[in-house]
Parts: sequence; structure tokens; C-alpha cells
Amino acid sequence: MDWKAFEHWGRKIVGWATDYHANIRDLPVRAKVRPGEIASRLPVSPPETAEAMEVLMADFERIVMPGMTHWQHPRFFAYFPANAAPPSMLAEMLVSALAAQCMLWQTSPAATELETRMLDWLRQALGLPQGFSGVIQDSASSATLAAVLTMRERALGWAGNRKGLSGQPSLRIYCSSEVHTSIDRAIWVAGIGEENLVRVPVSGPLRAMDIERLDAAITADLAAGHLPAGIIACTGGTGTGACDDIAAVVEIARRHDLFTHVDAAWAGSAMICPEFRALWRGVEGADSIVFNPHKWLGAQFDCSAHFIADPGSLVKTLAIQPEYLKTHGHDGLINYSEWTVPLGRRFRALKLWFLIRAYGLEGLRERLRNHVAWACSLCEKLRRHARFEIVTEPVLSLFTFRLKGKDDDVQIAFVNAINDDGRIYVTQTRVDGAIAIRFQVGQFDTTEADVEFAFEVLCELAGSA
Ligand SMILES: *Cc1c(COP(=O)(O)O)cnc(C)c1O
Repeated sequence: MDWKAFEHWGRKIVGWATDYHANIRDLPVRAKVRPGEIASRLPVSPPETAEAMEVLMADFERIVMPGMTHWQHPRFFAYFPANAAPPSMLAEMLVSALAAQCMLWQTSPAATELETRMLDWLRQALGLPQGFSGVIQDSASSATLAAVLTMRERALGWAGNRKGLSGQPSLRIYCSSEVHTSIDRAIWVAGIGEENLVRVPVSGPLRAMDIERLDAAITADLAAGHLPAGIIACTGGTGTGACDDIAAVVEIARRHDLFTHVDAAWAGSAMICPEFRALWRGVEGADSIVFNPHKWLGAQFDCSAHFIADPGSLVKTLAIQPEYLKTHGHDGLINYSEWTVPLGRRFRALKLWFLIRAYGLEGLRERLRNHVAWACSLCEKLRRHARFEIVTEPVLSLFTFRLKGKDDDVQIAFVNAINDDGRIYVTQTRVDGAIAIRFQVGQFDTTEADVEFAFEVLCELAGSA
């Protein structure tokens, strides 16, 4: 492809993207294909000769599009959002054009220095104190892995990377029963082992870790000769939005000299609004905090903000410096690849710069506040409706409900009927063993009318459930 053709197709694709978003409400939110249907339309072998862009674009429309679930659909109420505000999408186009690999300061000084400043903007936006440093990770899973590795190394006196874990006492890490599966995987990958992830039962309306049982578990482990290393708390758990009492967790951690990591992958975005910060009261005492601007805030996937109180401990855990990565004569510069497990890094800070400037924090706060208000008003309407019951109360913009008096099979059939219908998209979770239907409002272009429309769809389909 020559650059003239690139320009031609580039313009066409921007036009395509604009039309896609203008007409997105006409599409079913979840893809309506059967397993294998897309694969059956793909040639089994690669072409030996060049194909024309016209053909590629036509096949994209014909083969790929029917197999897409539309995450930018304003009636996407499933999982959590993965927003892509238009300015952040434009920034990603620039990043795609530059295609820089930003592993070291010198491999693109602007990427490093913008990242430092953007993470400090986010720190201020979230109301975190000075002293937290930030890095962009590709995912909350990676940030949590980096935090778990840091807990491990800190507990082992920084010897784990060198000596391995055999011959060491069992490292123990504590969390609630509500944490995301990325915690389990971090524990596996760090070599700590699932059996050493101690799940503390939850209590209360926010399904928070029971603090007395947390303390008792740590004390019992110490008596048994285990090596407690850290606590992973959550603000806004994936199932129902569970929030641990961070202040109490931090106090226990201090008492036992443990490292604390807070997973606020989804809910962290809401902390740009001061009125929601009570949900993570005490967070300033944590050692590590992760939230995903690529979820609710509007930065295009992927972009995970990881704040650490002492980046030295993270760098001590992850930095590796063979000769070819040394930046001679530039001591004191940040090389962010020393803060993350992967070496290569995309230029992710640019989309934060575009996003925050194009809306201002006030513009972003207004969206989040609307989402919360609309979710709460839908919850009230469902509560008053004879066919539904509320299972868990709204935490920010997430609540769960179900068909009143029906068993799990009927609830699952109802979720499938909703998603086959295609006008809205929801997913399910389990609360105390029984199926509940999750509803969260968070897509960037969602309007109040979209949420009201969801109520109509739910009532209509409940009529035949
Ligand atoms: C989405 C989510 C994650 C995982 O985020 P990734 O960036 O996909 O790794 C972890 N924890 C919570 C609470 C989440 O909601």
C-alpha cells in the first residue's frame, strides 16, 4: 500500500466509524451468531497474492461485523463498560500512526514524560495525596500481578527472584470472597499457590471483608509458621460492587507489616467525584491502587492506572538491566518498562491527555453522576414492579435484581431472552449462591432515555418469562 492509498482508505474508515456510531442503536447489542459461524466464512489458507482494499473492506462488513458485540452501544448494560470517547479514539489513531515502542525514556521521551504528568493529573483527580507515583499498565490484571510480586519480594527480603520459592515458608495473601479472578491468577503466576490465598468471608450491605476474621486469619497463619505478605482489598467488586473497609484493612496491614493493594478497576473512575470517595475511605494508606480509565472514565482500551506509594519497591521487584537496555549518562530518568512485567509499551498516555482536556474533569464527572442517578432510578422502578425483586442495592451505577420467586433456570432463561432480543445487553452473577441479574450504567453515550427504554424491555420480556 502506498501512502496515497493509505490516505484514501484512512478517510473512508473515519467516515465508516462516524456512521457506525450514528446508527449504532439500530444494531443488536450482543452478536447474534452461532459458535463457528464466522470461522466458517474465513478461508482456511492465507492468500498467495495481494488482494484489493475494496475486497478487504467488503469482507470486513460481510464477515466481521455480524460477529461483533457492540461495546460502544448506549444500551450495553452488561459486565462493566469499556468506553472509547471520541477524543481518546483520535489520540489512538495518532499513536497508531507513530507506532513507537516506549519502553525506555529515550525510546520516546514525550511518552514517558506525558505518562508521568497524566498519572499525576489522575492522582489529583481521584483525591489521592502527593507521594503516590503512577504508571500505566495494560490491564488491572497486570497491575495486580506486579503488586503481588512486590508483596512476595518484600516479604522474602527481595530474595524470591534470585532463589525461587522452594525452601521458603508458605507466603500468605488475604482478600475477600468478592475479589476478581485476576487476583487468583496473579497468585498462581507469582508461584504463591491458590491454597495460600486466604479468602475472608464478607458481611454487611457492601459485602466487605470481615475485619476481625481477617485479623484472626493472619494471627493464626503466623502461629502456624506461614509468612503473611499482603492484603488485596477491593472497591467495587465485579459481581455486585463489593467494597472493603479500606481504612480498617490498612490498619490491620500496618499492625502486621503487610503490603496492601486496592483493586478499584471499575469503581476508581467514580472517585473523580468527591461525593463517592467515602466508598474507599482510608485509601491514602494503601501501598498500591489500580483503576482502569479504560472502563468507566472513557479512555479507549487499554489503559490501566497503577499508583504506588513506594515505586522503589516495584522497581526493585521488576527492573532488569542488560547492557542493551542501559541508558548511559541519564541516571534518574524513569524507564517505565522497569515498573511493569512486559518490556514493550504502547504510548497510552496520549489518549488520557486528549480525553481529560477535551471534556475537563467537570465534563467527565457529569457523565458519571448521571449514570449513577439513572441506575438508581431504574432500581427503584424495578423494586416497585410486581415481577421483580432487588437483590443487591446500587453501588455507584451497579445493582442486581431478579424475577421474583423464580429459580435459577428461569433467571438464566430470562437473561438469554433479553440478550437474544438484542435491544439491551445484561449479564448475570451469583449472590449467596443464587443467580442475580447485573445491571450497570456506564457507556459514554448512554442517555436517560436509553435507561428508561431498558425498563420497558425488561417489563415486556418479563411478561413472557
Ligand atoms: C475488570 C476488572 C478487573 C480486570 O481488569 P483487566 O484490566 O481486564 O485486567 C479486575 N478487577 C475488577 C474489580 C474489575 O472490575
